[in-house]
Amino acid sequence: MSEWEIPVSALSCAGCGKGFSAGEGHYSFLYEEPKGFRRLDYCQTCRAGAKEPFFSFWKTTRAEEEKKPLVADDVLLNFFLRLVETEEKKDFLYVLALALERRRVLKRIGQGKEILELELAKDKRRFQISMPQLGEEAISTLTEEVGRLLEGSLTESEGSL
Ligand SMILES: [Zn+2]
Repeated sequence: MSEWEIPVSALSCAGCGKGFSAGEGHYSFLYEEPKGFRRLDYCQTCRAGAKEPFFSFWKTTRAEEEKKPLVADDVLLNFFLRLVETEEKKDFLYVLALALERRRVLKRIGQGKEILELELAKDKRRFQISMPQLGEEAISTLTEEVGRLLEGSLTESEGSL
């Protein structure tokens, strides 16, 4: 899966259990777990009571039925920038870097044996990403996992902590 196509799925609020209808905006919060991340979605009303601490959040709008839109570049980029700061979960970071490179949000400017050098297209900020020793299978599993985490995230990111 080279891009994160989003399966249209039923999402509901982690606070009040209300289902989100297509086109309705709500908020997605990402929580760090030992092995990865978990996502909880909240409606406008329950947003203020979201479980803390969260890793990142953004505004999500479910697509109309049968569309398979892509995760917004901004949502992807903000996830990446948050992970760069933490210097944790290097596998996730690497997978995000590859996806952003494919979208030309990041540009590869160099590559060492274990390091990928990337430049952010919009402001020329540079990053050095360590390349975990992952097989293609592991990369595609992680890519799917990130795709699920960001599922339905079509609107611009609201930022992160
Ligand atoms: Zn709610």
